[in-house]
Amino acid sequence: MKLFGPDRQRVGYADQEWSVWVSGMDDIHNKDSLADALEQANELNAVFADLRTRDDSEFSPILYAVVLHYGYAWTQATEHAHRVDCGHPDCGPCSFDRNEPQAGAA
Ligand SMILES: [Zn+2]
Repeated sequence: MKLFGPDRQRVGYADQEWSVWVSGMDDIHNKDSLADALEQANELNAVFADLRTRDDSEFSPILYAVVLHYGYAWTQATEHAHRVDCGHPDCGPCSFDRNEPQAGAA
């Protein structure tokens, strides 16, 4: 499973702009925004980290939460490396592109 890089694999759904994927459980939570997705991913990862420090034998496979953007693991740098809009509302370069008329956009 490659989450990042040129041959990255989609782990979520193409029509979900933002979601949080939990590895090991293969759970996907649909989210309304990047902020919501980051908040839940942070929360889940904190819980998983806590569980791991208590008892590492009970919680294998290792659980971690990853923010997905259209089904792909999201980091701002990854989206920029793929030359796509990272979706961050405060990203300067991407916001600039959003204000340009997009070919084929309604
Ligand atoms: Zn950006």
